[in-house]
Amino acid sequence: MNEIRPSRPNNLDAFWMPYSDNKYFKGTPRLLARAEGMHYWTADGQEILDGTAGLWCCNAGHGRREITEAIQKQAAVMDFAPTFQLGHPIAFEAASRVAEMTPEGLDHVFFVNSGSEAADTALKIALAWQKARGQAQRVRLVGRERGYHGVGFGGMSVGGIGPNRKQFGAQLPYVDHLPHTHLPAQNRFCRGLPEHGAHLADALENLVALHGDTIAAVIVEPVAGSTGVLVPPKGYLEQLRKLCTKHGILLIFDEVITGFGRIGANFGAERLGVTPDIMTMAKGLTNAAVPMGAVATSAEVHDTIVNGTPAGIELFHGYTYSGHPLASAAAIATLELHRAEDLPGRARAMEPYFEDAAHAMRDVPGVIDVRNIGLVAGIELEPRKGAPTARALDVFRWCFDHGVLTRVTGDIVALSPPLIVEKPHVDRLFGTLADAIRAVPA
Ligand code: PMP
Repeated sequence: MNEIRPSRPNNLDAFWMPYSDNKYFKGTPRLLARAEGMHYWTADGQEILDGTAGLWCCNAGHGRREITEAIQKQAAVMDFAPTFQLGHPIAFEAASRVAEMTPEGLDHVFFVNSGSEAADTALKIALAWQKARGQAQRVRLVGRERGYHGVGFGGMSVGGIGPNRKQFGAQLPYVDHLPHTHLPAQNRFCRGLPEHGAHLADALENLVALHGDTIAAVIVEPVAGSTGVLVPPKGYLEQLRKLCTKHGILLIFDEVITGFGRIGANFGAERLGVTPDIMTMAKGLTNAAVPMGAVATSAEVHDTIVNGTPAGIELFHGYTYSGHPLASAAAIATLELHRAEDLPGRARAMEPYFEDAAHAMRDVPGVIDVRNIGLVAGIELEPRKGAPTARALDVFRWCFDHGVLTRVTGDIVALSPPLIVEKPHVDRLFGTLADAIRAVPA
């Protein structure tokens, strides 16, 4: 067991925390000091049930011995080696394991260090492919309103969550957004895939009519997570796939959240029955024990770029830590755990119970929508009058102080526990959330 550190470090000033209300936090710090299985413990020793798998990433639960040992072993053998014009066996093995897991045809794997880097890498590969096949005029990228693809300039620009963009002014040029798929009037309290909204994919036809053959790629999350769990309407992704193929546009799925069992299959593509040309992943790839992301591409994309280059570097892109040995070791051990414990199967088996518990929230005053698929649920609250997001933040803090970790975005509370979750945990998660919504001011 790890030693518990002092409950409050001497100085909280130096760390400028990401995506945080620094001033609030530093006045009322909530510090996590240890993690194991389904739980965190605060620096003061309070047990916190992890309702969010960290940040949608510790899918196999915390502190998995198999993963930590693999990292320790690799650190002792070789700490680092470059993958520019050189290689090391463990990175190749990790890539092969990822390729075995991705949908048929997505067999080439480019390693990065995060979901943001995966998004930017995927966009750059798409542009490079269009150029390599003689379509250099295809420079436009299409994202979707309410989409989240990380914080790089590419991912931010194709992303569609207002506050993430408006502080920064300059965006990537030549970017358009499809409409989001949230149709509350028709689809409220829907279980799984909503009935209405497949037609929203047709907005791509309008963009093609406007921009002709200058669109390189469309990027979407199969299930939009960070915006508050938007499950794709029935037929929507199929229609997007059809239109992309028809118009020579690459379809990119951002599977940073939906990958590695989260929605009851290895990837969202598999569960939802639509295969993209390029897929990004991160988070669950290493169970978050070491940062790592990846981009998987079709042979067509890979071969056109690699074989189309006479001699020399084919893709002027890469990171010092692409395929880092420790991350590769963590990925191999994680994927082995996924297989051995059938984590996607476990998620699928728990889904009906989790879904019932999520939809029971409908009876809690102030809950205006519930959306779910696999082991992800979004519970939307009626915003507090004149103070959007304040109610959900209060709920988050109340839950934490009562031993449950949730995640909030806007006025939506998202739950996405590790895939090893058991029924009593599910009861506790939703029970505490219901108590919190009743307890905090409306
Ligand atoms: N894409 C999606 C769909 C995500 O959910 C996230 C993170 N929540 C990212 C990209 C960015 O990942 P990271 O924070 O590792 O850069």
